[in-house]
Amino acid sequence: MDMESGGVRGASKSTSRHLNRGNVLSNLVLRNGHVIDPANGLNAVADVRVSSGTVETVGQAIPARPGDREIDVTGFLVTPGIIDMHAHVAHTHARSELSLHPLVNTLSSGVTTVVDAGTTGWRDFAQFRHDAIDNRWKIRVLGFVNIVGSGMGGPWEHESIEMNPKLAAATATMHADVAVGIKTAHYWAKRRFDADHAPWMAVDRAVEAAELCGMPVMVDFFPTLPERPYEDLILKKMRAGDIHTHVFAQQFPIVDDNGSVLRHMHEARDRGVIFDLGHGAGSFWFRNAVPAIQDGFVPDSISTDLHTGNVAGVVIDMLTCMNKILNIGVSLEQVIAMSTVAPAREINRPELGTLTPGGPADIAVLAMDEGDFTFVDCERTTMPGDRRLRCELTIYGGDIVYNPNGRGRASWEQDARNNPLPLHVRSQQF
Ligand SMILES: [Zn+2]
Repeated sequence: MDMESGGVRGASKSTSRHLNRGNVLSNLVLRNGHVIDPANGLNAVADVRVSSGTVETVGQAIPARPGDREIDVTGFLVTPGIIDMHAHVAHTHARSELSLHPLVNTLSSGVTTVVDAGTTGWRDFAQFRHDAIDNRWKIRVLGFVNIVGSGMGGPWEHESIEMNPKLAAATATMHADVAVGIKTAHYWAKRRFDADHAPWMAVDRAVEAAELCGMPVMVDFFPTLPERPYEDLILKKMRAGDIHTHVFAQQFPIVDDNGSVLRHMHEARDRGVIFDLGHGAGSFWFRNAVPAIQDGFVPDSISTDLHTGNVAGVVIDMLTCMNKILNIGVSLEQVIAMSTVAPAREINRPELGTLTPGGPADIAVLAMDEGDFTFVDCERTTMPGDRRLRCELTIYGGDIVYNPNGRGRASWEQDARNNPLPLHVRSQQF
């Protein structure tokens, strides 16, 4: 724990602590963008004024004040900062080569909050916090605590001694300002269950830990043996608010031969079970996703499961995942909701994923490109599409952190005329 972060330990769910780190924040007005803020039912052209790291006003023709930086975003979408609630960003985790640095393919995709999905457990979550969560980078990192003490990456993920509900719950509680739930995954390599390897041990213990700390469970599951069918997971084991990630993986019975969504999916949803995309290297198949969505079963949230094995394809980033869902036929507003307000609600961080005044100024400015595009799933099959979201600006805590086209910046010729001796760096911002 470094000196800077020591003061916030044990604080209640804090988002503002990541802001205002050493930079003088400029006030900013985004002019004339198409604002989509599903949490507030807003889908209209409007201005957004950012002040001191927070959203100040969203409305029509907001007057500029002296010193405001104004950026014309006419023709672009303005959305809350994107939340990726399933990624692997414990980049220093000793036993796993899974994780990426939190800045890899995030800011460039409008992502301002990235949630590590249980790469670490009760033994090493504190180290993850030290190395990645309490960061000086301009991105918010949160995490699930794995029910397995040593986290992901090896045969210990099947050892009962690793799955200690009390220690997992205590870890989540101790880090409640940055821990968002309990994770269970990868408990299926064993082909035979015995006294030390009960079929539901990992899920049961994760739920027990979640009960103790009052948080949701995120479940990554593989119904390898008849002792643990998928239907029992979503109808008997998971609770309201628990999250089944990887919903369109090929191993789950989602649709019947006619493409109709199976009844247990609707029953589970009626029970309050949450279904998350969790694309991953093997968990998004068009043959499940397309018929399910076309039959009305749209996942609650979109997430990448981004890690070293899929960052160059087939996942790439959040926008690529969102574009697949968009081109299957889900509305733009719903795709934005599935990537902002929905994950914020699922991880119990309602101040995120919205442009509500007073909240952190985490904002994505997106372009909608039209043309002939191709999208690829985990089976390496393709689907054509004609729309593609692209990130034009990312703003984190009021700071512009991604601006590949220099939007709002002067041309070099204009700059040379106005500032004949630019022998200094004028701004750390983009
Ligand atoms: Zn994962």
